[in-house]
Amino acid sequence: MEKAKIAFFDAKPYDKKSFDEVVPGYGFEIAYFADKLNDKTVGLTKGFDAVCLFVNDVVDKGMVAALAANGVKLIALRCAGYNNIDLEAVYGCIHVVRVPAYSPHAVAEHAVALILGLDRKIHKAYYRVREGNFSIDGLIGFDLFGKTIGVVGTGKIGGVLISIARGFGMKVLAYDPNPDREYEKEGVRFVDLPELYGASDIISLHCPLTRETHHLINGQTISGMKDGVLIINTGRGGLIDTKALIGGLKSGKIGGAGLDVYEEESDYFFEDLSSEVITDDVLARLLTFPNVLVTSHQAFFTKEAMRNIADTTCGNITEFFGGGLVKNEICYRCNTVCKKKQDQRCF
Ligand code: NAD
Repeated sequence: MEKAKIAFFDAKPYDKKSFDEVVPGYGFEIAYFADKLNDKTVGLTKGFDAVCLFVNDVVDKGMVAALAANGVKLIALRCAGYNNIDLEAVYGCIHVVRVPAYSPHAVAEHAVALILGLDRKIHKAYYRVREGNFSIDGLIGFDLFGKTIGVVGTGKIGGVLISIARGFGMKVLAYDPNPDREYEKEGVRFVDLPELYGASDIISLHCPLTRETHHLINGQTISGMKDGVLIINTGRGGLIDTKALIGGLKSGKIGGAGLDVYEEESDYFFEDLSSEVITDDVLARLLTFPNVLVTSHQAFFTKEAMRNIADTTCGNITEFFGGGLVKNEICYRCNTVCKKKQDQRCF
C-alpha cells in the first residue's frame, strides 16, 4: 500500500521535534507547513491524503470542497477541542479525528498556576525584586484554603482541577450538564450556574466551546458573581465576552482574570510579534490590567503532553488509513463522538 501523505499546518519547531521522534515508527509521510490552514493556503493540500491541524487552523463550510477536491480524506486534529472545524459541513466528505486526552494534568496545573500567580501577584513580585525593590506593599493575597472554587465542566481537565483544589482544602462547586456523581464523594457539590457564579471566589472554565457555551461569561452573568471574583479560562476564548470582562475589571467587580485563551487569539497567539504593534484594541486593553495574567494558549504545553499528542495523532492516522475503526473520530451525525457500529464507518 502506498504511504499516506500528511500535510501538517501551523508547524512550529517544537511540533516538528515531537512528531519527528514518533513518525518513523508509523507508515506515512509528513510535510510540514509553517502557515495556518486557511482559504489562502488550502492549495498546499493538493495531493495530500490528510491534513494535521491545530487549534487556530479553521475549516469552514467554504473550504470543504477545496480540501476534498485536493484529495484530503482526513482531518487529524492534534488537539482536543474541535470548535475550529465545521463538523456539519465536513460530514459525509472528510473524516475528523482528534486527541481527546493527552494530559489533563498539564491544563489543570496551568489553571492552578494562573490562580496562584494572580492571587499571590507573582508576576509583579518577579519584576519588583529584579529591580531591587524588595517592598511587599500591595502584594497581599488570600489563602486558597477554605475558599470556594466553581468548576464549569467536570470532564477530564475539570476533574483533575477538582482533585488539586480539594488538596488545597478548597470547597468545590461544579456545573456540568452531565454531572459525574462520583465527584460528590470528594465533597463536590453540583449546582446550577447562577448558584455557582454567586458563591464562588474563583471560577474556572473547562467546558467545550459550543453554540450553547459561547459567551457563557457575559455582562449579565458577571453581575451575578461575587465581588472580587477571579475568573480563569484555559478552555476556549469564546467562552468569555471579553468586552464584558474588561467592563467587570474596570468596575472592580472582577478581582482578576487568568486567561490562557482569548476569543480573537488566532492572529496573535503562538507567534513572536514583539516588534509589531498590537492592532486588536481589546487584547491591548486586557494587557494593561495589573490583575490580568494572559498566557498564549500554553496550558497544554508539557513534554508529556507533546509526546502523547504525537503518539495519538499518528495512531489515529494509521487506524484511519488502515481501514479499521477509528476510536477518536468525531462526527456531526453522532453528535461529536462517533458511535459507529463495529464493522462500519459512519460514511
Ligand atoms: P472533556 O470532554 O473531558 O470535558 C468537558 C466537560 O464539559 C464534559 O464533562 C461536558 O459534559 C462538559 N460540558 C459540556 N457542555 C457544557 C456546558 N454547557 N456547561 C458546562 N459543562 C459542559 O474535555 P476536557 O479534556 O476536560 O477539555 C475541556 C476543554 O478544555 C476542551 O473542550 C478544550 O476546549 C479545552 N482545552 C484547552 C487546552 C489549552 O491548552 N488551553 C488544552 C486542552 C483542552
